[in-house]
Amino acid sequence: MNDLTPARAVAAPITQDVMTIPRKLPETDKVNLVGLTRAQLREALITAGTPEKQAKMRVGQIWQWVYYWGVRDFALMTNLAKDYRALLAAKFEIALPEIVTRQVSADGTRKYLLRIAGGHEVEAVYIPEEGRGTLCVSSQVGCTLTCSFCHTGTQKLVRNLTAGEIVGQVMLARDDLGEWPEPGQGSTGERLLSNIVLMGMGEPLYNFDAVRDAMLIVRDDEGIALGRRRITLSTSGVVPEIARCAEEIGCQLAISFHATTDEVRDKLVPINKKWNLATLLAALRDYPRLSNSERITFEYVMLKDVNDSDADARRLVKLIQGIPAKINLIPFNEWPGSPYERSDWERIEAFADIIYKAGYASPIRTPRGEDIMAACGQLKSATERARRQKTGVSAQAAADSTV
Ligand code: SAH
Ligand code: SF4
Repeated sequence: MNDLTPARAVAAPITQDVMTIPRKLPETDKVNLVGLTRAQLREALITAGTPEKQAKMRVGQIWQWVYYWGVRDFALMTNLAKDYRALLAAKFEIALPEIVTRQVSADGTRKYLLRIAGGHEVEAVYIPEEGRGTLCVSSQVGCTLTCSFCHTGTQKLVRNLTAGEIVGQVMLARDDLGEWPEPGQGSTGERLLSNIVLMGMGEPLYNFDAVRDAMLIVRDDEGIALGRRRITLSTSGVVPEIARCAEEIGCQLAISFHATTDEVRDKLVPINKKWNLATLLAALRDYPRLSNSERITFEYVMLKDVNDSDADARRLVKLIQGIPAKINLIPFNEWPGSPYERSDWERIEAFADIIYKAGYASPIRTPRGEDIMAACGQLKSATERARRQKTGVSAQAAADSTV
């Protein structure tokens, strides 16, 4: 038996048998500037000997070098005195996760496997589209939740990413896209990395503070300056933290809804046993939307014969009545040993049609980067994949025992 059988998935505890790994500090006593909030950066500069009176100005200057120009070397910060640059270089570093592999899909999607302190790995995915581009960012190594259709949920090693490791994903993608401005060249206004979705590995609301700090850094007008509406946080439904998205980050909210009865949602998204549909919907009705035009995205993965009937579509529309919403239908993406199948295309269209006729936008998400296992729910670190293979749980064996 293995941990992918429906029986196990149904009985899965809300918090799985995971190994939470301590955050190993990097082998340097220098402080990494990446991921510090402005206030934290100010404190750190003062501790390092910056006179208090100058601290605010220095924060502004360094911030611009790091987050506007993408500079990684203190020696290049030419509006700072040489001695001060030397002091910074002695006490601080500008460090990003290390890119282990970079894969490019036939459709242009790029997947980065990144190594972070302690040798752990996460993935980030860049999805180019007409006139825009979205980076799918991870918030944890693995995930403590065990959604039965999600590859990340089968990963046993879990640790929260730091704010620096989350911002670092954005900075690395901009490096790879060559998107930092060149001095003297005006901006064309069009961005290759124009949107961020917190839809990679992990449950962002179980790492709220780091996710918030990272997104506020990314939003900061004197740096990367992404508008708040261009950032979407997806949660499986950590109800007590949901309102904080609007209050503290100001981003867009997406909910991994996926089912229209508690019975089915308990199986697909086990956190439903803690906060069920009624509780979740009440929190969404109370959600402190920052403007009237903002809608909550309901993500709905299309699983053949599990949650894709006409009755489901009608129940879905009824449940979310009164909530400004759009519904994003996600054709299920398979992974080795996954216990479900994707709904047929005609079924997905029929489902979308019912929702559309009820007055909701119901886009069907085109799977991107499937050939490099970069599509929604396929992420899992390469070492974990290898570990599973070594322990003899072959993909085929897993599939055979589940379907
Ligand atoms: N943990 C967060 C964000 C990461 S998952 C959450 O669950 O919302 C991003 C989206 O992909 C979620 O809606 C998730 O349910 C969906 N997803 C997970 N596995 C999938 C799969 N195999 N195929 C399609 N979508 C999947
Ligand atoms: Fe975690 Fe989201 Fe995957 Fe569920 S769908 S296991 S919450 S990453």
